[in-house]
Amino acid sequence: MSTIGWIGLGNMGRPMTANLVKAGHTVNGFDVVPDAVTAAAADGVTPVGSIAEAVAGADIVFTMLPKGEHARAVYLGDDGVLANADTSTLLVDSSTIDFDSARELHKDAAEAGFRFIDGPVSGGVTGAQAGTLTFMLGGDDADVETARPFIEPMAGNIFHAGGEAAGQAAKIVNNMMLAISLEGVVEGAVLAQRFGLDPKAFYDIAKVSSGDSWPLRTWYPVPGVTETAASNNDFKPGFATALMHKDVGLALAGAESQGVDLPAASLVYAQLQKLVDEGLEGLDTTAIIKNIDPAAPGLPTKP
Ligand code: NAD
Repeated sequence: MSTIGWIGLGNMGRPMTANLVKAGHTVNGFDVVPDAVTAAAADGVTPVGSIAEAVAGADIVFTMLPKGEHARAVYLGDDGVLANADTSTLLVDSSTIDFDSARELHKDAAEAGFRFIDGPVSGGVTGAQAGTLTFMLGGDDADVETARPFIEPMAGNIFHAGGEAAGQAAKIVNNMMLAISLEGVVEGAVLAQRFGLDPKAFYDIAKVSSGDSWPLRTWYPVPGVTETAASNNDFKPGFATALMHKDVGLALAGAESQGVDLPAASLVYAQLQKLVDEGLEGLDTTAIIKNIDPAAPGLPTKP
């Protein structure tokens, strides 16, 4: 079995590393928060105190960090991955970060003699625990094939989306489309109720009609309609508003750098921003219904 370096042992990194340990790998784990390292050690991760120790002797290094600025610091800093790892070590950034940072990391890693893959995931903490995440990989064919067996214990699906930053591009665009569809569903759910339609009766019609969509089927924002919806559970996440706000923000940042105007994404971002401004970023993203109907059934009266 192999030695894996892991940097970023938060909500996602901890269960992902636990699955690598279960698969028989030695995982040397580092986080700037010492408690996160201690918690991961309880799952069998070997705790280390620096990036340099995490990458030493590793066949592959994964990073699972909040944002592009953290990924840039961890890879490009003086005490970072490129300064300390051996160039034979394959590098995989599984954080969800902006497209431009992902391209910069590919470029700087290649210039320093490293193989680098961007590999963001979807599936949330439950998918990370179950080892069923979807990985979207951007990089060279050979590098992706080398990474694949290391990723398998954490994954339900592994897609090679394309070349550099293609994984981030796929993740960002998918989540932007989800957010836009969700806005349609919450607006529809409120208007249907105001028209006096029974929510379940309307759901059953829309689900087999042209108004159907993934958020309609999976996240219908009215309690008692579809089992998988956070509306049944006081809008606890699920998929937190903070994460959707971040992902739509990444889409808008990418659109700006590509010179594309995205009016619907801008509108949804403003709707998500309202929840963030009210301190509701910890609620499920379907709580966006609050902007349309502040008294929508199931919304908590206090965050
Ligand atoms: P998190 O904030 O729980 O964990 C990130 C960890 O990185 C933290 O423990 C933090 O201390 C650590 N960190 C930050 N800077 C560091 C540094 N310089 N050196 C070492 N460690 C550092 O976040 P998360 O929920 O685990 O998400 C990680 C990434 O995965 C994010 O990009 C997120 O958008 C993405 N993601 C999250 C989910 C989810 O449901 N949580 C789902 C899909 C994708």
